[in-house]
Amino acid sequence: MTERVSVAIVGSGFSGSVLARVLATMGHRVVLLERGSHPRFAIGESTTPLANLALERLARRYNLTDCYHLAAHGRWLERYPEVRRGLKRGFTFYKHHPNKPFADRGLESERLLVAASPSDDIADTHWLRADVDHHFVREAVSAGVDYQDRVELTDAEITARGVRLSGRQSGSAVTYKVDFVIDASGPGGFLARQLSIPSGLARTQTRSALVFSHFENVRHMTEVVPGLPEGPYPDDWAAMHHVIDGGWMYSLRFDHGVVSAGFALTPGGLSAVTKSREPDATRLWRDLLARYPTIGAAFADAKAVMPLGFRSRIQHRLTRAAGPRWVLMPHAYAFVDPLFSTGIAWSFRAIERLALCFEDGLPDPKQLKRYERLLGAEADQIDRLVAGAYEAMDGFDRFAAQALIYFAAVSFAEARQRLVEGDPWSGFLGVDDPVLGPLPRESLRRLRRGTKNGAFERWVAEAIAPRNIAGFADPAAHNLYPVDLDVLVDRHALLGLSRDEIIAALPRLRGATDKPGVVVS
Ligand SMILES: Cc1cc2nc3c(=O)[nH]c(=O)nc-3n(C[C@H](O)[C@H](O)[C@H](O)COP(=O)(O)OP(=O)(O)OC[C@H]3O[C@@H](n4cnc5c(N)ncnc54)[C@H](O)[C@@H]3O)c2cc1C
Repeated sequence: MTERVSVAIVGSGFSGSVLARVLATMGHRVVLLERGSHPRFAIGESTTPLANLALERLARRYNLTDCYHLAAHGRWLERYPEVRRGLKRGFTFYKHHPNKPFADRGLESERLLVAASPSDDIADTHWLRADVDHHFVREAVSAGVDYQDRVELTDAEITARGVRLSGRQSGSAVTYKVDFVIDASGPGGFLARQLSIPSGLARTQTRSALVFSHFENVRHMTEVVPGLPEGPYPDDWAAMHHVIDGGWMYSLRFDHGVVSAGFALTPGGLSAVTKSREPDATRLWRDLLARYPTIGAAFADAKAVMPLGFRSRIQHRLTRAAGPRWVLMPHAYAFVDPLFSTGIAWSFRAIERLALCFEDGLPDPKQLKRYERLLGAEADQIDRLVAGAYEAMDGFDRFAAQALIYFAAVSFAEARQRLVEGDPWSGFLGVDDPVLGPLPRESLRRLRRGTKNGAFERWVAEAIAPRNIAGFADPAAHNLYPVDLDVLVDRHALLGLSRDEIIAALPRLRGATDKPGVVVS
């Protein structure tokens, strides 16, 4: 480190507090300013292999032991059992049709399971954000971060000489003078308002409303639809996606029995259920469960543990992500939709990038431009992929094929990052990859044009082939995809490795040598 600087981070969700702590470990003076206080409810709970891989990398580079343990379900349970979480073995999808029970057609069912890990031990997790965010704030404080809660910031003045933030805390005026400000306020949009950053929402093609809560007594799908062929993991210990007409429902199970669930609905999907644009959340929820009887059976005895919430639009997007002496975290810059659980992994990618920028002092203009360019391209990429998935929701085979573009991109990135190189500046979801980069735009175009007789599914299979290290789009798999190391070894050349090289590197896929302080050979 050549220069110590002072930084204010606005917002203490996990992205603000983990970045604050990383900067503090470098010796920077960091103040973390939170409008509310912890513990508090937050949404955005399902992690993915790329999120946990970034967490492991941060653990190793900055010696954050807890981050290493929180990156896998088994290690988490062993070291932090009091921080509540859920086991996530993969991504489960079912297609439901209005007023009909889910059709069990054995291996031909409208069901897709993609394993993200081969065992519970090294599996991903659902984060009970109240506990996890609180944990990260406490760790930030231990690392020397000056954490201030219940701060209502009213003004930001950013000049060539520095940043001045002012507001009130417990009735008293407060002022912070710093060298740089990072906005981690999520949809709170602190800098968007202070700097009058114009909205970029017109770029975002996805539109969805959300009705959501946390519930007790949700039955497992395997009880409601017993006898489905065995998948690569128990269906319910995953991010469950119930695809319906004009939308989908997520259902994320925590180990203590609570389930986080919500329906995301397109404008058409919403108007099929209610004529109101601001409907009563409880009634909307009841109507959706009545319309989809198998989901209704799973939630028949469920009790919301907090009032149901409704948001008429969950997308937001800005036109700028960085400038002299300021930068936005991804969730302050843009959000598309929970489909494919991109938010946590994307946020960690940004934490890694910004941490590197601060290793030598303040980020320079070139670094900030690069950060901004990537964030913009990545927000577009997430949006195209999700917009395509919504477009495909009325036909399950098409939907599953569209989903495989996502799974091909993330599994290739995970294998590359674990086995070859883990560069945080590589684009998220194939941005900057000559093969994967153009696919979401092209698939959206094809889906909108309309496709027949499996043409779209065949196109996807061919298009992902150069990056398909996991054996996706194989009809013999019947949409049930385990983590298959034999396929990975067979396809070693796609990663630019010889057969012997990939076999020697396999232990790294399990994070076996990734402990902080241990050098990966
Ligand atoms: C419905 C939904 C479901 C999602 N599901 C997933 C998922 O399954 N997986 C996934 O990876 N991602 C998901 N996401 C995205 C995920 O929520 C975000 O990526 C994540 O919350 C980003 O964390 P953060 O710390 O940047 O921001 P946030 O979690 O939004 O935290 C922002 C913090 O800033 C504080 N704040 C706000 N304004 C101010 C202010 N003016 N001053 C001071 N403090 C302020 C807030 O109180 C809060 O503590 C989902 C998002 C939504 C909307």
